[in-house]
Amino acid sequence: MNASIARVLVDVSLNREFDYWIPEPLRAQIVLGSAVRVSFGSRETTGFVVGLAAVSERTALKPVLAVLHDQPVLSPALLELARWISDYYCAPIERVIRSMLPGAVRRSGSAFRCRRIAVSKRSGLSAAEWAALRRRAPRQAQALEIIEAGAGIEVGVLSREYGIPASVVHALAKGGFIRVEEERGARLPFRNRTFVPTEPAVLMPQQAEALALIRKSLADLEPPVALLHGVTGSGKTEVYLQAIAHVLSEGKGAIVLVPEISLTPQTVERFVGRFGETVAVLHSGLSEGERHDEWHRIREGKARIVVGARSAVFAPVSPLGLIVVDEEHEPTYKQEDAPRYHARDVAVMRGRLERCSVVLGTATPSFESFRNCEIGKYGRVWMPARVDHRRMPLMRVVDMGHERLPDGKPAILSRELLDLMGRRLERGEQTILFLNRRGYAASLVCLVCGHVESCPDCSLAFTYHRVGERLRCHICGANRAVPPACPSCGDPAFHYAGLGTQRLERLVAKRFPEARIRRMDADTTSRRHAHWEILGDFKTGKTDILIGTQMIAKGLDFPNVTLIGIVFADQGLHAPDFRAGERTFQLLVQVAGRAGRGELAGDVVVQTFKPFHPVVQSAVQLDYEAFYRREQESRRELGYPPFGRMVCVTFRGPSEEQVFEIAERVALRWREQAPPGAVLTGPMPAALSRVKGLFRYQLLLRGSSSRGLTGPLRLVLRAERIPSKVAVVVDVDPVSLL
Ligand code: ADP
Ligand code: ZN
Repeated sequence: MNASIARVLVDVSLNREFDYWIPEPLRAQIVLGSAVRVSFGSRETTGFVVGLAAVSERTALKPVLAVLHDQPVLSPALLELARWISDYYCAPIERVIRSMLPGAVRRSGSAFRCRRIAVSKRSGLSAAEWAALRRRAPRQAQALEIIEAGAGIEVGVLSREYGIPASVVHALAKGGFIRVEEERGARLPFRNRTFVPTEPAVLMPQQAEALALIRKSLADLEPPVALLHGVTGSGKTEVYLQAIAHVLSEGKGAIVLVPEISLTPQTVERFVGRFGETVAVLHSGLSEGERHDEWHRIREGKARIVVGARSAVFAPVSPLGLIVVDEEHEPTYKQEDAPRYHARDVAVMRGRLERCSVVLGTATPSFESFRNCEIGKYGRVWMPARVDHRRMPLMRVVDMGHERLPDGKPAILSRELLDLMGRRLERGEQTILFLNRRGYAASLVCLVCGHVESCPDCSLAFTYHRVGERLRCHICGANRAVPPACPSCGDPAFHYAGLGTQRLERLVAKRFPEARIRRMDADTTSRRHAHWEILGDFKTGKTDILIGTQMIAKGLDFPNVTLIGIVFADQGLHAPDFRAGERTFQLLVQVAGRAGRGELAGDVVVQTFKPFHPVVQSAVQLDYEAFYRREQESRRELGYPPFGRMVCVTFRGPSEEQVFEIAERVALRWREQAPPGAVLTGPMPAALSRVKGLFRYQLLLRGSSSRGLTGPLRLVLRAERIPSKVAVVVDVDPVSLL
């Protein structure tokens, strides 16, 4: 087609397209998905060609100024996916496209430059010169040592991974100690690490069965989606690797989604170890330049396998043979701002559009996926045994309601757990203590009356901070002193008060002064490569006891860990969410799966105040089906997912009356237009009813299809003319209702 008009989506926040005229010399270069430079208002901006036409309804069109990149940045399939996401999740399409493309790719056509340290003169310095530098400028000396060890290291890596600021590098260069050179070309985020090459394993029967199902799916898309439902250690990752080898042999590429890549370095290692440089890695910890380079390596076909977090589902792999979603049940696959997409569901949609297979892997399937297997939409393979028939860990339940310290106060660590920890230390084996910080863990909970100290502005439990004995709201930052006794019943023993990982660490250190203890949570891993370091020390046996949050619940594989303590198993059950049971079950099973990964058998101690709760019981028996059968009954009755669909609409604004009134008007009008069978609840105050002084009200829509709910909703929101002081957020298939 020799189109003269380009329909351009401009990279500013407007949910519409504009026509531009294509000057003759550019016509051959512009196709659907091309990135172009156009003028918009008084400035120039980037846009994407989302349509081509011979004529326009508008006159006096501005011209396209230039084409960026020599190929389109979005394939027709990805454009179609963008339209689907925009429609299904009620998000403006330019927001969708923004999520799909790394910023550096969107903004610039030219390759980024990389600054590499070419020459270092550390070894040329005399001992006296070196000593002088160390005295005069210790940071420079330290930097020089690192530079010397990693020849050709990049300036960006120095600052990101070693915390060495550009000013120090600059000073070194000025002093003639180093020379920095600009280099074009790909920065490989994993260049500075070495990986152990791995060979394909001879598969166990259950793995062979799983691979056969995937091979069948790859051949004829029957089934289009395969669920590998396998306990931790059943060999799912090895199956992915072999399926991908097959995909590569057919000249296609693959995408592997993992929940949060920085927490699962071992998974990345295994892919790089097997496939080498054809693996690209995409995650939030990369610099803009690295993302840009990885994206181009993928687009040019130099990297055929992409391992990445949520947004890697949009990686420009072409042709695409397979998408793997590991730990498919993880809530982190849902993006919590617009577009509020679920990467697993987008993967399934992309699979449909590009006619490629999708594999979901997990030990605890989401109800949505398990249900799809039940009704025959997805194929499923059940992998109940660990590779090499290692035993599943023994789960011991301890009723904390009966645990008391000698002085009669409630205990945080039970005698049984302490006893087992002591024996691990004697034997030189390792222990993981798990304490979820989400939920109420780090808050003040009175063990006598159950009172939870909450922020009055945000209706969220306060988090306890040891420094200065403060309570802090993590939403609005409110900050106050810890009350001396429970404000509700007056009991002075706030025992779970402030039970966060920090406090737990101190407690354990006091009890086992000889033990080497490390803590892994958001606070200790904020520095760039801190988690590699903590996990590295643990792996090499430099740490006896690792204390951590949900961060350590995933993907880690340590053969010498023989004891896991779940400090407060039922805390998640208190969350105001219909999935609280499902989440708690998943978490308990995941954590349990960390024990006994090697030759040694493992113990798991589950400390709980509700030892007979069905969720705790089925988790302890690692019985997914029993849990699913029981839990699904109430979901079915109430029309909750997976038996019905949900859309959550949140209204937010400074005036409570106004917010409520708008929500109510929308509710009224929606009810008039609602499809039969659809239900609306609300307006009701959101679980977080007030955030940063803004009031939040919610409507919850339920029905048999999402579109049946969002269709009328869209009309209502348009008709209601929402005042600018009230923000409306539409969340389709919400995973949490805060
Ligand atoms: P999952 O992904 O289900 O947790 P993995 O694929 O990580 O399981 O397998 C667990 C461990 O067993 C890994 O160390 C892996 O290298 C090893 N393994 C997997 N499959 C085999 C096999 N067929 N033979 C021998 N070892 C295997
Ligand atoms: Zn607050």
